[in-house]
Order: sequence, then C-alpha cells, then structure tokens
Amino acid sequence: MKILVLNNGSSSIKYQLYQMDDRVVLAKGVVERVGTDSALLKHQGPSGEAVLVNIEARDHRQGLQAVIEQLTHPVHGAVNSMDEIAAIGHRVVHGGEKFQESTLITDEVIAGIEAVSHLAPLHNPHNLTGIMVCAELMPDKPQAAVFDTVFHQTMPPHAYMYALPYHYYEDHGIRKYGFHGTSHKYVARRAAALMGRPLEETRIITCHLGNGASIAAVKNGQSIDTTMGFTPLEGLMMGTRCGDLDPAIIPFLMKQEGVGPTELDRVMNNQSGLLGVSGISNDLRDIEKAAQEGSPRAQLALDMYVYRIQKYIGAYLMSLGGADAIVFTAGAGENQSSIRKKICAGLAWLNVHIDDEHNQVRGAEHRISTAGSPIEIWVIPTNEELMIAEETMNLVSE
Ligand code: ADP
Repeated sequence: MKILVLNNGSSSIKYQLYQMDDRVVLAKGVVERVGTDSALLKHQGPSGEAVLVNIEARDHRQGLQAVIEQLTHPVHGAVNSMDEIAAIGHRVVHGGEKFQESTLITDEVIAGIEAVSHLAPLHNPHNLTGIMVCAELMPDKPQAAVFDTVFHQTMPPHAYMYALPYHYYEDHGIRKYGFHGTSHKYVARRAAALMGRPLEETRIITCHLGNGASIAAVKNGQSIDTTMGFTPLEGLMMGTRCGDLDPAIIPFLMKQEGVGPTELDRVMNNQSGLLGVSGISNDLRDIEKAAQEGSPRAQLALDMYVYRIQKYIGAYLMSLGGADAIVFTAGAGENQSSIRKKICAGLAWLNVHIDDEHNQVRGAEHRISTAGSPIEIWVIPTNEELMIAEETMNLVSE
C-alpha cells in the first residue's frame, strides 16, 4: 500500500510518499515560497537523485499540482498514476478537544478543524487548504488528518488546566494542549520496542529538542503531561521562543515599553530563547561555539537551555513515579552529544550515567547510557511522516 503524507504550511508544502509494505520512502520533497510566482520544488524520486524545479505556485492548489506532476513524472516519478496511492495523510497542527484521535476526513471533520482553527491561526488554515485542494484534485482518494495535539489528549485535567477562572476554559478553551504529539508518540513507541518491553508497561520521558522544543511524560504509552501549553510558547527555552515566564511580565512590558499584544507575541516567539539571550543565534551549534570562544551571553543561554530541560526531566520523574527511559530526539537531541552530556550530568545522583563513546552517535537509534544504568538513555531519530503514514494506513484499513 502506498500512502502520501502532506504537511501544508503557510509558504511551503512538504511531502513524502511511502511504500508501507516495507516502510520505504519512494519519493519526497518540498515546495518552497508557495504564494509567490517564483516557487521552488525540490523533489527526490526513487533513484535518490535530487531535482530542482522552478514552478509557479501562487497558491497551494498550484503547488500541489506540481507535486503530483513530479510524483507521476516519467523520469523522476514514483508512480504511473495517482490511482496507485491508497490514501493521503495530512499533518494538522491543532485538533483542540474535538479530536481525540486521528481521523478520516469527512465534511464534518473539515468543519471540526475549521472550528478549532482560531487556536492555531498560523497553521490550521493552511493544513485545511491542503485537505480541500486534495479533495478537489483527487475526489475519490481517502484522506486522513493526524493532529499534533492528539497524543496529549490523554493528559488528566490536573495537568492540562491553568489556574485561571474556570470560565476561561469553558468560554475560550484555555487549557494546555501540547504539540509535537506525533513525534513524542513515535519515539516513545520505538523506545519501548528497542528496550524489548510492552509499551503499556513503561514510563518514558521524551525530549524533542529541535528549534521548537518540548518534553513529554509518557506513562504506559499515553501522554500524561507535556511542556508546551495552550500554544507552543510554554515550557522549555527554544531557538527563538521564550518558554516559561512569569505571566505578569507581559502586562508590565506592555506598559513600560508601550507595545501591543501582537508585537509582544512576536518578540516572545521570534526574538527570544537562545537568540534573545545570546544576541548571536537561535542555533545551538553557534551558541556552543560562541560559548567556547568566551561569549558570556552565549554561555548563559546554553546554561539556561540545559537547566530548563533538567528541571522538567526532574518534574516528570515525579509525575511518572520514576522512569524506564529518557529519549532524545529532533535536531539537537539526535545530533548534539555535548548537550545530551550536559543534561544527563544532572542525573548522576540517580546513578544514571551516559557512556561517552556511545554518546557520540548522531542521527541513529542508539542507547547511550552505561550498562546497568537504572534509567536507559536513548537517542531515537523522530519520524513524524512515518507515524502519519501508519495512522493513515490503519484508518483506511479498518
Ligand atoms: P526544527 O524544529 O525547525 O525542525 P531541527 O529539528 O532541525 O529544527 O533542530 C534545530 C536545532 O537542532 C538547532 O539548534 C541545531 O543546532 C540542532 N541541529 C540540527 N541538525 C544538527 C546537526 N546535524 N548537528 C548538530 N546539531 C544539529
């Protein structure tokens, strides 16, 4: 069975075509600068050779048409016709409380995604456009929506509620939703499989450390808490996001600096985090280099970044009543051994240590804790596309 996975963003369309029998990627690519008349399609077909095509993609419709052209291209394509593809799985950022699981797309589901789109106004409308355009271009093709929030819908109320007047929850849906759910779910499952234990009997802390970063506490395969909240701004310090702060700082700054909510939102999302503190970069590699070269603010940013992660690991050890494994994934988690080492140094009091040699791994599934460590530490590359493809396959096979 072949499944196409689509991630429609505001100005990009990412795609991967899977052969599900052996979980092989037949083709993948991205359309960049959607919405302009000089869009670029980067495509990789079964030969592995990369193709760059200048296309006109003033909207997602034109962009998706170009993707279909490449997928069915006589030279670079992976299928003779789109009929060979059994279904399309879409990444949808926000499912609100409406969606407790991945679902096949119907008119009712489209209305449901629309109804929660105000919770993710920068993402959901584009995800939805992708779904509508596919329905128009391939009316008989089953489509599924796989939400970033769904995995965290198992959080208990005491974890997802904010201590605000209750009616804000009822009137506006103000609560913690959490994000990166597809990634946390994927690596938690892989961790259980790699440890040779039933997922239903494990306590796993998953650390997704990319440009956006979040940690989840996963008990018996279910998320019971996560660091991101009502939006992806809460929790860890990120590349450009501030993460946790005293909420009173916001009205204080609005008064002192005379800035409005939109501007402050932009500062907290795009100019804070590693970039804001260091004044150098949002990329951990640059920050580490600058810290080594003696920049005190880069060192401070690094120390804050690591400390926040340690604090949340500590909190989730309590939430889970201990842990069987801690997993590192995404850009920094998969590749930056120095960061993993700094974070795990905080676990020495539990007799948990990482093996320096094993910790050199980059981008591959590997246990990096020492033999006999009471908590296993793993590096597991995330694969959100494969998870979306699997969920879609399960839905169309039901
Ligand atoms: P995004 O959340 O945008 O997908 P990534 O998952 O690529 O971002 O993560 C970005 C972070 O991961 C950066 O801080 C960067 O330093 C780190 N990173 C990404 N790739 C590598 C790599 N190959 N080696 C070292 N660090 C990396």
